Amino acid sequence: MHASADSQRPRPPEREVSRWLRRLSSWPLADRCTVNGGWPWARELVARAHRAGLGLALCWLSCGEPPGPPLARAPLGTAPAPVATPPAGAGSPAPELVKPITAPAPLAPVVPDYEQADVDPGNDFVVAPPVPIDDCPRRLERAQISFTPSVLPLKREKVGRSGREEVVACGAEQAVVYLGGPAKIRYNAAPTLTCRMALALARFEEVAQEQAIKHLGQRIARFKHLGTYSCRKMVRFDFVSEHSYANAIDIEEMLLENGVRLSVKKNFGALEAAPSTRPSQFLRSLARRAFDERLFSTVLTPFWDNLHHDHFHLDLARYRVDGTRPHE
Ligand SMILES: [Zn+2]
Repeated sequence: MHASADSQRPRPPEREVSRWLRRLSSWPLADRCTVNGGWPWARELVARAHRAGLGLALCWLSCGEPPGPPLARAPLGTAPAPVATPPAGAGSPAPELVKPITAPAPLAPVVPDYEQADVDPGNDFVVAPPVPIDDCPRRLERAQISFTPSVLPLKREKVGRSGREEVVACGAEQAVVYLGGPAKIRYNAAPTLTCRMALALARFEEVAQEQAIKHLGQRIARFKHLGTYSCRKMVRFDFVSEHSYANAIDIEEMLLENGVRLSVKKNFGALEAAPSTRPSQFLRSLARRAFDERLFSTVLTPFWDNLHHDHFHLDLARYRVDGTRPHE
């Protein structure tokens, strides 16, 4: 009787709603109601229920926990949403700001501050001073090079059988006096160089210090060079030398901080033998790095010919010459 009386008693409205929601929660949707996955029709149902004000209860019952706030996403191809700011003078605490998720900025290409050898085979036969650099002073400063501007007027010369063709035989549009670089190597005389060569020389100094420490346990204090600018043709070839454009330097000696003096002539070692001394290993490895790492286009050592038995010739010609290895 009690049960029958109970069944006939009207249920309180809260229990009716609770029973209805429990039944709803046992529906197969319970396993599928997710924000980012599941059946498309289930998500659509949740979305519609949400619009009708029931989405929270439906998802709470079927998923076990209420859905979190939607992820803030910047729409593709549009500006990021503005960040909310509290009104001026408002005493209430600032609302929680939702930071828009923006794509990471692309990495800037790594551009070395020093120059690199020209590896374009299409201009190997161009006879001309190097093309000036747009922002030479700024690049020199960024590379921590001390310098003063210099002037090397261009001298033109008629060439060819007809005599009509004209080339710049000497000079450079962009010359500087190199006073020192970040590797703190001094010179017997401040070299006059093109801007590109000044940048390359600063990098060469750094590599020279690395190799000196590695092979000799010492830093280099001074370079002795034989010259950079000379208005002349190349001795062996009927071709304008890079020295004509101040685009080359000849290094003869290096003085270490402990006072030891190394020269290409005395310390490069016998050409037919593997380097057997530390100075020889140092000099040869330095020359190879200068070429292989494109510090210079042309690196000539005693391996190249007898004219270079006592110095390294380094330049930034448009062509490339590797004179750092024995002839095969
Ligand atoms: Zn030279």
